[in-house]
Amino acid sequence: MAERRMRGTPAAPGVAVGRIVRYTPARAAVRTADLAPTEVEQEVERLQRAVAQVRERVTQARERARGMAGASEAAIFDAQLLMLEDPALIGEAERRIREQRQPAARAIDETAAALRQQFAQLEDAYLRARAADVQDLATQILRVLAGGDGAGPTEFPENTIIVAEELFPSDTALFDPGRVVALVTERGSPTAHVAILARALEMPAIVGVAGALAQAQDGEGAIVDGDWGELILSPETATVSDYQGRVDAARQERARLRALQAVPAETMDNVRITLLANIGTPREAEIALTHGAEGVGLFRTEFLFLDRPEPPSEEEQYAAYRQVATLMAHRPVVIRTLDVGGDKPLPGVRMEREDNPFLGTRGLRLSLRYLDLFRTQIRAILRAAAHGNVWMMFPMVATVQDILDARQVVEDVQAELNAQGIPYGAEMPIGIMVETPAAAVAADVLIREVDFFSIGTNDLVQYTLAVDRTNPNLAQRYDPLDVSVVRLIAQTAAAANGLGKAVAVCGELAGDPEAIPLLIGLGIRELSMTASNIPRAKEIVRSLRVADAEQQAQQRMLGGLRD
Ligand code: PEP
Ligand code: MG
Repeated sequence: MAERRMRGTPAAPGVAVGRIVRYTPARAAVRTADLAPTEVEQEVERLQRAVAQVRERVTQARERARGMAGASEAAIFDAQLLMLEDPALIGEAERRIREQRQPAARAIDETAAALRQQFAQLEDAYLRARAADVQDLATQILRVLAGGDGAGPTEFPENTIIVAEELFPSDTALFDPGRVVALVTERGSPTAHVAILARALEMPAIVGVAGALAQAQDGEGAIVDGDWGELILSPETATVSDYQGRVDAARQERARLRALQAVPAETMDNVRITLLANIGTPREAEIALTHGAEGVGLFRTEFLFLDRPEPPSEEEQYAAYRQVATLMAHRPVVIRTLDVGGDKPLPGVRMEREDNPFLGTRGLRLSLRYLDLFRTQIRAILRAAAHGNVWMMFPMVATVQDILDARQVVEDVQAELNAQGIPYGAEMPIGIMVETPAAAVAADVLIREVDFFSIGTNDLVQYTLAVDRTNPNLAQRYDPLDVSVVRLIAQTAAAANGLGKAVAVCGELAGDPEAIPLLIGLGIRELSMTASNIPRAKEIVRSLRVADAEQQAQQRMLGGLRD
């Protein structure tokens, strides 16, 4: 067959070469004839038994996802379990059986179709994507009603590329990442849960490839380019060798950089630099270790709070934080308290619209406003600190008063834990992100109130240069190496170093090969970055001399030319 190329939307990066498996779980036949009045209660019971079986399956899928991808990915299935309790789905199907004498399968099919349509009309992309969850559950219930166990096929040959109309989380969680190398769907969006799972499992994926099922044949050779969003069917020999070359090169590069794992991040003149990882889920902590991270310099906790109708409980947060603390053993884990607000609304909390969200109730400001939420998170972090080397960090600090207010809440929570006899890490260091110009300018004052600083260059750049970090029209102006930013980093580092306190950089700049020598020259000795950047950062550290880096930094401080 001739080579054919189809375009879709990139949903998870990477490339894979393999063979197609068309994933079309048979749709159970739906009986349409009405029930006899005597059959009604029996049919309701049949539906309830099927729902119970599906609940069991979803719970299993959740445990599997927790093991493979992490707590926040597993939360996808918590949402499904909630949906199974929702009267809009099962209650409505029961009503149709009782009042309209519909057979169970038809009742669930029609209820799901109506719900799905309602979701599809919503403006919010996240809620729209929930239509897929409804269909996922309905499909499983239909399979059980038809006499199956609710599962689609799960056994695949090696190097399988799955092509499906749509994939549901319950399917994806059961795919073996050792055999399934990539995913392609005709429908779905990059924000769908399947895409999130694929990224967490490092499995290339493309969504929205219209007509893929009709074009692709089972067993056909194919390539998935998850970076570009292309599916290549029956690729020509030259195309295969080109892509196979990319797959092999990526593998070799990973192996080469992995070899660096055993050596320390030390400059040529023997100055030790600490390389840490930024993570957003417990699963990423595992990946961080495989890249040689010496700890977690930034654990963004937002992921636990988004994608769900209510904030996570203290126990759920404690479990997630403790998991990372335990995994990292003696290595530091800097847990940042919630950094939402403004442009990232918090589900379950009604916030008024703000004209300037980036200058609004964001980060610590939001936590100090919703004290119950803040106290719950602090309790969870303090308790997790009993299991490892946990540090706590506040985002969006501008003034000394911010720090005093936050510390007061920590003290109150500690007193409460003492009174309740609940163990916690009493020695836990407390620090702040330096990401507002106010904090950087007054760094010498603020440092007296905290144990450490971590410089958030992503925000520091936007606030210093007055350039919205999300505005593509201003991308040219968003310059992290502008002399103004460089000076703020320098004085923040000097303030902390002067008192012998830790200072790290955890914005994107920390993992930028061009910036690493400059940051070291400015006095930074700890860099926290996306885990996959760590090996390259180590290579750079090992090839430089601090004296040279300091000279370069001096030039930049004076506004000197680059390189
Ligand atoms: C930063 O602002 O540099 C930072 C690390 O935080 P975030 O990107 O989460 O705002
Ligand atoms: Mg920030």
